[in-house]
Amino acid sequence: MKKIIILGATGSIGRNCLEVIRANPRRFKLVGISANRNIGRCEKILGQFRPKIAAISHPASFMRLKKAAHGRTSILAGEEGILEMIESLEADTIVSAIAGSAGLLPTLASIKKGVRIAIANKEPMVMAGRLITAAAKKSGASLLPIDSEHSAVFQCLNGEPEKRLKKIILTASGGPFLNTAYKKLEKVTPAMALKHPRWKMGAKITIDSATLMNKGLEVIEARWLFGVPPEKIQVLVHPQSIVHSMVEFEDTSVMAQMGMPDMKVPIAYALSYPDRLPAPCGSLDLLKEKKLEFFPPDTKRFPCLSLAYEALAKGGTMPAVLNAANEAAVEAFLEGRAGFLDIPKLVEQAISKASLRSDNKLENIIKAHKEGGELVRTLL
Ligand code: NDP
Repeated sequence: MKKIIILGATGSIGRNCLEVIRANPRRFKLVGISANRNIGRCEKILGQFRPKIAAISHPASFMRLKKAAHGRTSILAGEEGILEMIESLEADTIVSAIAGSAGLLPTLASIKKGVRIAIANKEPMVMAGRLITAAAKKSGASLLPIDSEHSAVFQCLNGEPEKRLKKIILTASGGPFLNTAYKKLEKVTPAMALKHPRWKMGAKITIDSATLMNKGLEVIEARWLFGVPPEKIQVLVHPQSIVHSMVEFEDTSVMAQMGMPDMKVPIAYALSYPDRLPAPCGSLDLLKEKKLEFFPPDTKRFPCLSLAYEALAKGGTMPAVLNAANEAAVEAFLEGRAGFLDIPKLVEQAISKASLRSDNKLENIIKAHKEGGELVRTLL
């Protein structure tokens, strides 16, 4: 029986993860959860899974959850509460599924425990990939990707000689505006951008998918998870989202991982690796898929992907600046304070103005994060 903590249990990844645990009660036991403010969902999770500890970030929500827990689950409050839960609970796997940069310190605290970390929360990898991979090496923590693309790459590399890897090919659905003319992108509203054609996800990642910033963040995540330089990471648009990603080896053989677009599949794999669990969804029927298409990404209409490569090339803390600027710009877009096309413009200005620091100190990463967000807020 593997003991699991889910950070971000009330979110889209968190809920899928709970379904995997519910379907495999003899293999997994939920011992801890964190959330921000979704008390209703927390109460349901407490009732169904009875974890030992629940940590809730939002201070006002703490007392309500404490009452609802009837003393059966210990309730901790604030970011310190999340860190305390991670430190005090014994666990085999910690699922990192908080949205955005708020997951940085919890991810680092999880890694210190030297257990398996199932990583969905890509932003900390973007901000602090060097620091995180070094910390994992030191503690012995294993980093298993949940992101479908990185899970695909991980599966393609399984048992292969890594020195023979020629390139990683990350696929992208292209998002809801794959075929929308640039002029029309000016008029995109949050409601339009929140309708992803293939995946049901949290708001921030859905907007990132629409701008292609999500793919840029994934390029940076892949750089650190697989130790591959950016010039060996290619992106192809594949609207059907059936080929989750590919790897080419020196002998030109290309390995691809395919499957139905359902996040429960990579989540179950990250929890059960090296085993595989019975399918949580229907099988892929290739005869029903009329075609599988691949296109180069259009970085003129969607410059965020190029901006991510640029930040990675600048190195140091620039990916942290990129991430913070993007978070601030997406927040402004969702609140109606910026247009869809302002997102790449704001990020571009932030990475051209920000100072470059070395990325092997946490304090530098936090400074860069603050600077990136402040630059965008000033520009707005
Ligand atoms: P959601 O927005 O659906 O969920 C986010 C979770 O984080 C919720 O539990 C939320 O709590 C919690 N949270 C939000 N803000 C804070 C905060 N400041 N402090 C502590 N907890 C917080 O996001 P997703 O599940 O879609 O995404 C989570 C991560 O996984 C992201 O980094 C995303 O890029 C990545 N990912 C997601 C995929 C998907 O299919 N959704 C696919 C691949 C990667 P509450 O609900 O209480 O507000």
